[in-house]
Amino acid sequence: MKKRIYHKVDSGHYHADACVIWCFDARFDDRFNKKELSLYEKFCKNHGFKKVDPVFIAGGVKALASPVDWWETEFVLRQIAKSVLLHDAKMIVLKDHVECGDYGRHFQSKSDAKKFYSNELKKGKKTVVAFLKSKKLKKFLKEKGVKRNTNKPVHLYYADFSGMHHIT
Ligand SMILES: [Zn+2]
Repeated sequence: MKKRIYHKVDSGHYHADACVIWCFDARFDDRFNKKELSLYEKFCKNHGFKKVDPVFIAGGVKALASPVDWWETEFVLRQIAKSVLLHDAKMIVLKDHVECGDYGRHFQSKSDAKKFYSNELKKGKKTVVAFLKSKKLKKFLKEKGVKRNTNKPVHLYYADFSGMHHIT
């Protein structure tokens, strides 16, 4: 084994400011383009997040709102459960974006797109809120011997090519 990269990693335990479900589309997290911070970095900075549990997956909230297979929802909910278990994430953030290839939908206008993705975010939120209140999550945490307040806020964000919108 040969060490390729030297980097001092802070080994301390942390509490997550958020568990963020974000589509892996690199246009919205262009962090290797060092001309400026990526949208994801700006979003975290803007919220004062120091530690985040990111779940970067194709389609982001689609797995929670309009999954092709049931296990996609289970997988993402399990990631949220682990973020709550391991880092007691303070909030859950769901993010969708315009022209998401995983949805493969095209809209006549910006407002049509925003409306569609806002609805998806709201559907995803319902799934997450139900899970946070569920016996399933309580059982999961109990089995691990951990007590957590699972009443976490779920925030919704929609990104287009001009930035990010908070959906209320
Ligand atoms: Zn996408």
